[in-house]
Amino acid sequence: MKVTVLSGGVGGARFTRGLLALLRDRLPDGAGGTTAQVTVVANTGDDLWLHGVRVCPDLDTLMYTLGGAVHEGQGWGRREESTRTATDLAAYGLGWEWFTLGDLDLATHLARTSLLRAGEPLSRVTARLAERWRPGVRLLPMSDDEVETHVVTDDGTIHFEEWWVRHRAAVPARGFVQVGVERATPAPGVLEALTEADVVVLPPSNPVVSVGTILGVPGVRDALRATAAPVVGVSPVVGGAPVRGMADACLAAIGVTTQAGAVARHLGLRADGGVLDAWLVDDADADAVPALVAEGWRAAAAPTLMTDVPTTAHIAAAALALVDRAP
Ligand code: GDP
Ligand code: CA
Repeated sequence: MKVTVLSGGVGGARFTRGLLALLRDRLPDGAGGTTAQVTVVANTGDDLWLHGVRVCPDLDTLMYTLGGAVHEGQGWGRREESTRTATDLAAYGLGWEWFTLGDLDLATHLARTSLLRAGEPLSRVTARLAERWRPGVRLLPMSDDEVETHVVTDDGTIHFEEWWVRHRAAVPARGFVQVGVERATPAPGVLEALTEADVVVLPPSNPVVSVGTILGVPGVRDALRATAAPVVGVSPVVGGAPVRGMADACLAAIGVTTQAGAVARHLGLRADGGVLDAWLVDDADADAVPALVAEGWRAAAAPTLMTDVPTTAHIAAAALALVDRAP
C-alpha cells in the first residue's frame, strides 16, 4: 500500500506519526515497521537563509517528529535544546533575533548548508539528513528550487516567517506571494508519488501556506487532479478555529472563512476542478457534513484532535476508511 501525504510542519508531522502507527499495527513488516510505503511531500515555502544557513522549518519538524527527536510541547525543534549560540549571536546585533536557532538545530542547518554548497539538490540533502533520523517515510521537499512565501502587508511585502514568528500574524495580511514558484519544478519523485499512490492524504496542515504552497508548484495540482488514487483531507479547522497556530489569519487574507466546510470548498472537489474527493471534519463540525455530502463529497465527522499518537492513529484510520482504503 502506497500512501502519499502533502504536509506542512507541526500539523502534518503529528498526523503522519499517527498514520505510521496505524500502518505498523495493521500492516506490520515483522521488524517493527510496516509494509506500507509512505511518502511525505513537504512544503518548503517557509524556508529561509538565516546567518548564512538554509533553514527548512517544515522538513525539520517532520524529520524530528517522525525521528523521535522533537520538542513535544513546542511541536517543532529539538528536545533538550539550548540556545547559547543564538544568544551570543544576538550580542553582535546580527540577523533576526526573533527567529531563534537552537544549538542542536543549528547543526542540522549547517549540515544541510554544507551539502547544498557542495552542489547536492535539497531532495538528496534531505534524504541524507533523514538517514540519521529514520523517519519511517520517504521525505521529499516539494521542490529542489527555492520558493519563498512572502506576505503582502500595507507596509510592503515580508517573508512569511517574519509575519508569522515576529508579528504573530497580527499585521493584517492582504495576500501571499510564492516568490520563485513559477520557475520551480517538483522535486524528483513528487509527481510519481502522487500518480502511483493508492491513496493521497492532505493532513490537517495549514490550507493556505502549507498545502496551498505545495499545490502552487507547477505540475503538482494537475498530478493530484489526475491520479487514480482517492484524495482525502482532514480539516485543520475545528469548531471555527485552527486548533493551534494562526491559520485563521491566512484564510482571512484569501477571503475564506475559518470553517471546516469552507476550507473543503476552497480546496475543492475533484469533480468540480478541485483537489479532493473526501473531507473528514471534527465531531464539533458534524453539522457541515450533510451539505458536503449533498454537493458530492464523501464526508464524515470524527474526533480529530491529535492529543496523542494512538488518538491520531484513529484519525488516520477514519480518513482512510472514508475513501475505502482502510489498511
Ligand atoms: P506548520 O507548518 O507548523 O504551521 O504546520 P501545518 O501547516 O502542518 O499544520 C498547522 C495546522 O494544523 C494548524 O493551522 C491547525 O489548523 C492544524 N492543527 C494543529 N493541531 C491540530 C489537531 O490536533 N487537530 C486538527 N484537526 N488540526 C490541527
Ligand atoms: Ca510551516
